[in-house]
Amino acid sequence: MKRYIFVTGGVCSSLGKGITATSIGNLLENRGLKIRMIKIDPYLNVDAGTMSPYQHGEVYVTDDGTETDLDLGNYARFTKSPLCKLNSITTGQIYQEVIKKEREGRYLGRTVQVIPHITDEIKKRIFLASDGDDVDVSIIEVGGTVGDIESIPFLEAARQFIHDLGKKNVLFVHLTLIPEVAGGELKTKPTQHSVNKLREIGIQPDILVCRSPEFLEKEMVSKISLFTNVEENSIISAYDVKTSVYEVPLIFHDQNLDSIILEKLNLKSSRADLKEWSSLIKVIKSTEHTTNIAIVGKYINLNDTYKSIYESITHGGIANRTKINLIKIDAEKLETSDNPGNFFKDVDGILIPGGFGQRGINGMIKAVQFARENRIPCFGICLGMQIMVIEYSRNVLGLKSANSTEFSPETDYPVISLLEEQQGLCTMGGTMRLGKSQSILVQGTHINKIYDRKEIWERHRHRYEVSGDYIEKLQNAGLIMGAYTPDDNLVESVEWSDHPWSIGVQYHPEFISTPINPHPLFIDFIKAGMEYAENQHSSNSLDS
Ligand code: GLN
Repeated sequence: MKRYIFVTGGVCSSLGKGITATSIGNLLENRGLKIRMIKIDPYLNVDAGTMSPYQHGEVYVTDDGTETDLDLGNYARFTKSPLCKLNSITTGQIYQEVIKKEREGRYLGRTVQVIPHITDEIKKRIFLASDGDDVDVSIIEVGGTVGDIESIPFLEAARQFIHDLGKKNVLFVHLTLIPEVAGGELKTKPTQHSVNKLREIGIQPDILVCRSPEFLEKEMVSKISLFTNVEENSIISAYDVKTSVYEVPLIFHDQNLDSIILEKLNLKSSRADLKEWSSLIKVIKSTEHTTNIAIVGKYINLNDTYKSIYESITHGGIANRTKINLIKIDAEKLETSDNPGNFFKDVDGILIPGGFGQRGINGMIKAVQFARENRIPCFGICLGMQIMVIEYSRNVLGLKSANSTEFSPETDYPVISLLEEQQGLCTMGGTMRLGKSQSILVQGTHINKIYDRKEIWERHRHRYEVSGDYIEKLQNAGLIMGAYTPDDNLVESVEWSDHPWSIGVQYHPEFISTPINPHPLFIDFIKAGMEYAENQHSSNSLDS
């Protein structure tokens, strides 16, 4: 019998439910169990594809092209659980399906209701995502906070799991907050209230993961246990980590969380093998070197919008034994500045991330020009690659008004544009290149050397392409095309001739980088940044 672990959250959002769920997944995998990670998002959007980064942070894309919540990125970085369309469940999908069935007459005249029709659809989807011999345990993260109206049908479905499968096969982990009030005292009341809220809907949590500034003392644990009915050994301190979020599985393991889960679910497993993960943390803790990487984007003030990129840069740092100092530059501020150099003092590498829409574009172009002219390593991702092409067209090829038709539909020089077959189609849906596809690397290019392979499979999420009409002109002016799609020769990568390190890619390498397996492009980018810093240092000391 498969086991199901539901991870809920209380008190407030942003406590790290995704990290808690994925750390549990990580620990169970390290004990030899096969797991599936499932995210439930209680919003009415069918998927995250159309949501603004202001609302939602990054849209994470899976191999099969599903546009999902950024927590799936956390799952991908901490576990080996395969992720696809099935692993991301939203209220929108559930209602869409139930209403479709109702219209088809499949409920045979019955009144269609939240219980049982919506809850049955939720359970069906969780079972579907957990299907197959390669799953022992499914970990289901229920988005939102207990007490929200939106999550009630999902919690009711979760409650029914106990009824349907028996208590031994279902576990509830509840993440809550133990805040510190003036005077430094830790308070348990919000936790008591949020556990009560869960109990009201028939769920008694088995394990509490308590976010707190520091490790919870025995006395505090006893008090929480008394009020919540959760055993003392099942109250876990998720205190603030000093070095890296990747430390969380180890912090949980130190408090026996994996053994407690296995015991409660009556599961046999091998002993925990945390060698790989522990040595990762050792490396993170022991690095003293720092590399300064600038990111120039338009959502720089939000932490979550470029989540996978920030993480991948850190992975590149781990591989090179360097810490990363991220310098976040608002593209719009750069746009209005006469002196871009002021923004890039002590910067060892510049990265332009993906994005949509015109805002901040000219700031990104300035950043790319500055990197090219000052021989600073430059990494363009998706929109970032398109910016590299526009900048090159304007400043090297001499097409001063070159642009993407996304930003200037009437431009004289549409160096980035929609493919002919996409034109005239609805611009919001159906025209996006999404998910994993193949690219062929051009022999002898820098990107070919970095991957040391002929073919790569990477994930995409974009609509516009380098226009075929300009490829040769750009090549003649010194822009190297490093990769193409196999069938229609769309440009997948560019690099500058006569520059120490420059790569622009039309795809999103950040979605497949993990701390254990950092992506080769990020490893090489950070290495180039370190070399750049070293050269700067030695030329400065020669000058003085
Ligand atoms: N806006 C660009 C396009 O649609 C780039 C998209 C992206 O960076 N993900 O092609």
